[in-house]
Amino acid sequence: MTDIPLSSMVALTGGANFWQTNAVDEADLPRVMLTDGPHGVRKQVGDADHVGLNESAPATCFPPAVGLAATWDRGLVRRVGAALGTESAALGVGVLLGPGINIKRDPRCGRNFEYFSEDPHVSGELATAYVDGVQSRGVGTSLKHFAANNQETDRMRRDSQIDERTLREVYLRAFGIVVTRAQPWTVMCSYNRLNGIPAAEHRWLLTDVLRGEWGFDGVVVSDWGAVRDRVASLQAGLDLQMPGDSGAGAAAVEAALADGRLGRETVETAYGRIARVLRRAVATLADAPDGFDAQAHHALAREAASEAIVLLSNDGVLPLAPETRVAVIGEFARTPRYQGAGSSRVNPTRLDNALDAIAALVGHEVPFAPGFTTVADRPVGEDAHSEAVAVARDADVVLAFLGLGENHESEGYDRTTIDLPAEQLALLEDVLAVNPNVVVVLSNGSSVLVPFAGRVRAVVEGWLLGQAGGPAIADVLYGLVNPSGKITETIPHRLADVPAYPHFPGDATGVRYGEGLFVGYRGYDATDRAVAFPFGHGLSYTTFEYADLRLVAGPDGVTATVRVTNTGAVAGREVVQAYVGVPDSKVVRPPRELKGFADVRLAAGESTDVTVEIGDDDLRYWSVPHQAWLLEGATYAVSVGSSSRDLRASATVDLAGDEPAQPLTLESTLGEILAVPGGAEVLGQALGAFAADADADNAKMFAEIPAYALADFNGAGREAVQRLLDRVNAEARLG
Ligand code: BGC
Repeated sequence: MTDIPLSSMVALTGGANFWQTNAVDEADLPRVMLTDGPHGVRKQVGDADHVGLNESAPATCFPPAVGLAATWDRGLVRRVGAALGTESAALGVGVLLGPGINIKRDPRCGRNFEYFSEDPHVSGELATAYVDGVQSRGVGTSLKHFAANNQETDRMRRDSQIDERTLREVYLRAFGIVVTRAQPWTVMCSYNRLNGIPAAEHRWLLTDVLRGEWGFDGVVVSDWGAVRDRVASLQAGLDLQMPGDSGAGAAAVEAALADGRLGRETVETAYGRIARVLRRAVATLADAPDGFDAQAHHALAREAASEAIVLLSNDGVLPLAPETRVAVIGEFARTPRYQGAGSSRVNPTRLDNALDAIAALVGHEVPFAPGFTTVADRPVGEDAHSEAVAVARDADVVLAFLGLGENHESEGYDRTTIDLPAEQLALLEDVLAVNPNVVVVLSNGSSVLVPFAGRVRAVVEGWLLGQAGGPAIADVLYGLVNPSGKITETIPHRLADVPAYPHFPGDATGVRYGEGLFVGYRGYDATDRAVAFPFGHGLSYTTFEYADLRLVAGPDGVTATVRVTNTGAVAGREVVQAYVGVPDSKVVRPPRELKGFADVRLAAGESTDVTVEIGDDDLRYWSVPHQAWLLEGATYAVSVGSSSRDLRASATVDLAGDEPAQPLTLESTLGEILAVPGGAEVLGQALGAFAADADADNAKMFAEIPAYALADFNGAGREAVQRLLDRVNAEARLG
């Protein structure tokens, strides 16, 4: 490195243009391309722009994260990742800018379609699989957006104000899982501020936690345009500013080096990290074939879409028989909404729709009326509405394809409502009035309200399913695929029920994460609030029975084993979810949290033991006073089931814990002192007369009074009490 001129090292800390790093001739390092991501390769052709207005080279559009997450299938997500890696290499891309794993704090976040879940465990597990897959092809990933970027409103400036425990347990947790298990080549810092400091300049975040605690040894790249001050960012631990800034950042770094504000070693370190990662990409790209098997990848996209579809409700109308006379209404059947808008938009190699797929499956055209357009605020008018109602009238079953259009939800802005568009709801009402046999198929990137769920015969949640989603929907409707997807975000009854509702999206002073740990189902469960469909829910055309839950505690955590039987008539896949609660915890906790899951495929009548590993690190809480992850000594309740509110078997296990004992101090309360062996005697000696006054009614009140105050009240003197407490501490070995 010593023979590389400092100016070349400085140059590598900023992009050459929108999508490429700078070349370093002295190091024989060419420019390397980084592109979006995450669910397909968006390699732009022609002049680069940021938001997908320019065409990009055709690439497979896999289901976006909202769909991938609903599969709960690590193996499948890994295979999708590997295909993405292959396509990246074939298109000359060294780092694919994904996955995005921000927590879906509120369904209004316009970019939720690009994220996995409201839960950090499932996000972390599936994103690990994605990163493993892409990187298995010698292509890098960029884990984003680090961190606490949970909304689009004012996303480049807003201050996310989060208490440390919530930050650690909810908003950083998935990042920690992926970094420690899959070692992504790069991590992308977010635009927002975190507790007052821009993420791009946040030393605690980018260095202390990411590198110090998690051992990250890759490159921290900025989100595009997140760097305000490259010197401050380098000092905080960021390595690469993207995109290029016409040399301003490099000039600022040179000036800071010259006047001693920045040490040479900081630049050398960043350079070394970037060069190491880019060399891996260069090695891959040197040997990469210049094409990929588009047909095989389309088939994989279809398989992923099939597993992503969630059957929310079904009174038995599904699966349909081929001879059922169906009518299809809703433009989404013909013009699929299959990916989200913004920087992740892929130019698909092919696009299949559900209408054609249904016709192919039943062997003839089916009656169809669009009913509405997929563009917000562009109603098609009375004729289209009436035509759709007329088409629906005579069918055995009406398949109503409803959803959100591209401009209803997008990167760059948040939704203000989570209702379906009014004209679609009105159409559904008029259709129901002439034909009650309606199946609703939804296309949306994040939860919408489904007030009609109890009045239609089935609701199929199609999320955004990528380029092969149409045939996947047809396969599920007709039972060629038995649905097995489960929602990774709660579908509420009302927007105002969302735990983050009053705090989202904040104002110019910041966004306060006032719901704390109680995000998503953690909040609905804590307040025992009814929801339309709970986290983890998804039906099948078969049924599963759970029995005989066994828990075994070991040094690595708890192993839960449960017998699962397919009690229905068809083969199916079940996602077995394990939730953990600590009913008598002394720290604030949600009633139960997802801590493990496994999936199993069972033939009709088949039975098997399913094992879910619950890791020791997943059982710990972040103790702010100790600045450490601690295992509470307590009874842990483990429940396994088919959703967060369909728990089929429960058992408890006692864990010893490793919390350091707290010595008694003058701040300790009477109650705390009494709880320590020998404590009662000391109290008797020191505070005798005063404490003895406490009758049963007063005892509770006394229990809350700290020792220093009691010492003052009865005149025992603080020093004397402290000496007695020291004795108790020594005898009880409390620190
Ligand atoms: C987005 C990133 C994306 C980058 C490059 C940003 O606006 O937030 O997710 O990777 O642009 O397109």
